[in-house]
Amino acid sequence: MPDILEDADRHCAKTGARLTPLRRRVLELVARSGAPVKAYDLLSQIDRSSTSAKPPTVYRALDFLIEAGLVHRVEALNAFVACPQAGHGHAAVLYVCESCANVTEVQGARPGQENKPPGFTVKRSVIEHYGLCVDCPKP
Ligand SMILES: [Zn+2]
Ligand SMILES: [Zn+2]
Repeated sequence: MPDILEDADRHCAKTGARLTPLRRRVLELVARSGAPVKAYDLLSQIDRSSTSAKPPTVYRALDFLIEAGLVHRVEALNAFVACPQAGHGHAAVLYVCESCANVTEVQGARPGQENKPPGFTVKRSVIEHYGLCVDCPKP
């Protein structure tokens, strides 16, 4: 997944966000897994001997990546997926397979913007749809 990392570098250079080596490493692990990743899976994959990779640091790196629009949190699975389009700036629409936990992201319109309360500033939105993916047998 070199593209996701290159996109992330470009996106961060543009926005002035600082993609530290640990943040980059966390993003790389999420992107490479090809499936939603749990925080503890990330922790076990990151070199624990490194003092910069203590759990709180890894959670902060995830928070940064979510805030920067590079990673989305899949609430239903309490897991993380890399965004295929860094910082797309509108809602992420995720289709979550309840059978195999495969998650597909499609670029949505701007749901949530239309009916928002007056004066409310939307920073990020994630819409999750649940069902069965094309590879899973239908009941
Ligand atoms: Zn996205
Ligand atoms: Zn499936």
